[in-house]
Amino acid sequence: MNIIYRMFIYDFLYTAADQIIRKYNPCQVQSSSDGLVECASDIGLCCNGCEYLDDNGCMVNSVCCKLHICSAAEIRQPYIANKLYDIRKIASRYKLMRFRGSRQDTYAYLRKAWRWREKLEDRIGKAIFKKTALGG
Ligand code: SF4
Ligand code: SF4
Repeated sequence: MNIIYRMFIYDFLYTAADQIIRKYNPCQVQSSSDGLVECASDIGLCCNGCEYLDDNGCMVNSVCCKLHICSAAEIRQPYIANKLYDIRKIASRYKLMRFRGSRQDTYAYLRKAWRWREKLEDRIGKAIFKKTALGG
């Protein structure tokens, strides 16, 4: 499938997931009195250590991250977990799930996969042509 179309699906799924998260707020992310960022999980924010995290939060639109909530958030909002799971299935089908991957990362991955496929098809096409030309 066309990469542009897949990226359109990416944006659509991201927006859908973002609206669900904003509406139901399963993560309960907030700043504590001592300035630390806290959430529903006892072990801390799952974004910790990510290259895309800065003081204002996530700097990219990651559909994979947007569609993931941990068990602490799931217990809080099981209905949301099911909704996100349904969207995740669509994202997986179109190969849009990149762990901690930005929109740009996903686009680059799809381009690379596309080029690889083109090369493969080209090689297969040449092999078939050679075989036919040699009367094999
Ligand atoms: S890319 Fe994912 S893990 Fe990284 S900051 Fe954004 S939401 Fe968090
Ligand atoms: S998914 Fe879990 S660890 Fe990540 S922000 Fe939400 S509650 Fe915290």
